[in-house]
Amino acid sequence: MWPRLRRRRNGCAAVGRRGPTGWRTGIWARRCSVVLRWWGRIRFWARRRRASGWKGFLAGPLARYREGRDFPALPATSGLSENLTYGEIGIREVWHRAMQARQDGLAGAETFLKELGWREFAYHLLHHFPALAAKSWRAGWEDFPWQGDNPPAMRWRQGMTGEPLVDAGMREMYVTGRMHNRVRMVVASYLTKHLMTDWRLGLDWFADCLTDWDPAANAMGWQWVAGCGPDAAPYFRVFNPASQAEKFDPDGAYRRCWLAELSPRPGPDALAFFEAVPRAWRLDPRADYPAPVVGLAEGRARALAAYASRKT
Ligand SMILES: Cc1cc2nc3c(=O)[nH]c(=O)nc-3n(C[C@H](O)[C@H](O)[C@H](O)COP(=O)(O)OP(=O)(O)OC[C@H]3O[C@@H](n4cnc5c(N)ncnc54)[C@H](O)[C@@H]3O)c2cc1C
Repeated sequence: MWPRLRRRRNGCAAVGRRGPTGWRTGIWARRCSVVLRWWGRIRFWARRRRASGWKGFLAGPLARYREGRDFPALPATSGLSENLTYGEIGIREVWHRAMQARQDGLAGAETFLKELGWREFAYHLLHHFPALAAKSWRAGWEDFPWQGDNPPAMRWRQGMTGEPLVDAGMREMYVTGRMHNRVRMVVASYLTKHLMTDWRLGLDWFADCLTDWDPAANAMGWQWVAGCGPDAAPYFRVFNPASQAEKFDPDGAYRRCWLAELSPRPGPDALAFFEAVPRAWRLDPRADYPAPVVGLAEGRARALAAYASRKT
């Protein structure tokens, strides 16, 4: 068993789970009923995938995993993270099946194996640096002027930043407990770079919302995006949510699926978000889609200036 992580209480203390959201018992019940409905569906598919030895993935999407894995609207990834998180399937079994697929010449297996490697790397890091969720792995980053909780960060949690790909991801996670890896990177970059907000705030929110929450992968993912982790994204890599959307959601299917305001006849997934959120958030699917909380060029320039002025 990996060492349990203690939640960070300083710095981002205002991020407390209930403070900014105003959640109360009734509100929790509302969200839980929606999440449970989704949970049922997700668990059903998760069980089916596991019961069939995830043959579906091995026989289908794995072949095109390398090309398809970045497109959030496609069912191109294994969806195994929950099974792995709960120990419902062993990493060795997954690894050996993927190795077999690679030996059989299945394109995509190599990339899939690398992703499994990232998971193992995350656990390796956590083992040797148990404070991974609380402290920047690169010590020099601890005094970086990230903001604590702030109104735009709240809009980020609420899926109301006015950046469609960011909001779609945040809403998907709120309703389903899942978010596509590409979108996780985009929303994390947006929070830590465009909004210059402490990565631990995002890490805590993910821990609240994700059903595949994993202390190692979550902490590594956040530190990687923020730039303070090992092998992290360079500080000048600021994901542009608009160009990421153009590239990885070219026909807008993913964004339309989750953003009720962008469609004259929103689908059930988009509306489920408004059922799930606390009434105190006062969100209405019939309202206009919000204006961006920060211009993309402005946010990027601010982040680059702050990152570039770091001494270490
Ligand atoms: C900011 C951020 C937070 C994250 N938080 C979590 C988390 O709490 N729990 C979690 O399981 N993953 C986390 N990830 C990693 C990744 O997003 C998920 O593992 C992936 O989206 C799960 O979908 P899948 O099972 O279909 O993945 P696939 O693409 O099918 O990959 C197969 C498996 O490899 C592992 N894997 C894939 N990508 C990564 C990665 N980048 N880092 C570590 N392991 C990976 C997972 O166990 C995954 O199930 C996070 C990534 C980021 C950028």
